[in-house]
Amino acid sequence: MTDRVFNFNAGPGTLPEVALAQAAKDIVNYQNKGLGIMEMSHRSKEFMAIADQTEALLRELMAIPDSYRVLFLQGGASSQFFMVPMNLLAGDAKATYLDTGTWSTKAIKEARQFGTIDVAYSGKAENYRRIPQPDAYQIDDDSSYLYLVSNNTIFGTQFAAFPNSSKMLIADMSSDILSRPIEVGSFGLIFAGAQKNLGPAGVTIVVIREDLLDRAPDSVPTMLRYKTHAEKGSMFNTPPCFAIYVVGEVLKWLKAQGGVPAMAERNEEKARLLYQLIDSSDYYRGHAEPDSRSRMNVAFNLPTADLESKFVAEATAQGMIGLKGHRSVGGCRASIYNAFPLDGVRRLVAFMEEFAGANP
Ligand code: PMP
Repeated sequence: MTDRVFNFNAGPGTLPEVALAQAAKDIVNYQNKGLGIMEMSHRSKEFMAIADQTEALLRELMAIPDSYRVLFLQGGASSQFFMVPMNLLAGDAKATYLDTGTWSTKAIKEARQFGTIDVAYSGKAENYRRIPQPDAYQIDDDSSYLYLVSNNTIFGTQFAAFPNSSKMLIADMSSDILSRPIEVGSFGLIFAGAQKNLGPAGVTIVVIREDLLDRAPDSVPTMLRYKTHAEKGSMFNTPPCFAIYVVGEVLKWLKAQGGVPAMAERNEEKARLLYQLIDSSDYYRGHAEPDSRSRMNVAFNLPTADLESKFVAEATAQGMIGLKGHRSVGGCRASIYNAFPLDGVRRLVAFMEEFAGANP
């Protein structure tokens, strides 16, 4: 297709064209069954096969150990802000949170309803431009888990390495899941909304260590217990069928591209091109500290807010959309998720050079 723009939106974000094209066909008539993917019973053998295959692909691509369960839930990543502490913090137990931006701040607010929350680090005073080094915070011995957001979508920061803590790690990977190899075994629970690297909005992936399924107090409602969904293979109620199907198509694409290591290499290259330009220019200023930079969301400023508006408008006119930064940082943000092509980054870099020259 030639009429697609370069979509730099932070989420929902760009998806692989082959997955979209396949979905377009399957929406009308799935494998010549005479009905489309959105019309099939979630308990039909066709859909059960799709769900099984999607889970199997995710397990393979992320190398998820057998002792972990994969859940396909609804309610967005935001529902995990309360489901995590609701299920894992029994009584008035304590948990440690690292506040590295908007999405951790929101998670902290929810978690406080379920236990004692120790915010061991906050980057707020520096407008969240940094990921803390492990020696910048302390974790209390009686803390049940250490919660972090692996990639901060809004501020464009990312944990380059995860804390090597004796505490169980819980990570919100909504904006960098499958973008680089990770060791699932060092986490108790990983969750991610699909709408950046995985597929459409509407499904949230939870990868949870099996022994944690029994932690929830009796007061947790049925639908909000991880165990409910684990016991029923995410089919306790009607799952987000179409979204799960698209995730499956995206994962097939990802595997064909060479899997997570190949994604990581490409993501590294895309981010490098942008940061290289930012570093070599007096015109563009990156928001994140260099050692905290995200490979998924590149947040930057121009000399003035007026120039930023002009930049976004001109880029849009040239088929590069979604470059306006989040309102809490201002400026610009290029989200370059897995499915965002290298060519699009090259186009943006060329445009940035031209724009700086033409608007001194
Ligand atoms: N966590 C992160 C890191 C995010 O970027 C977002 C949304 N962009 C969320 C959580 C919230 O996701 P949702 O809209 O699916 O609730």
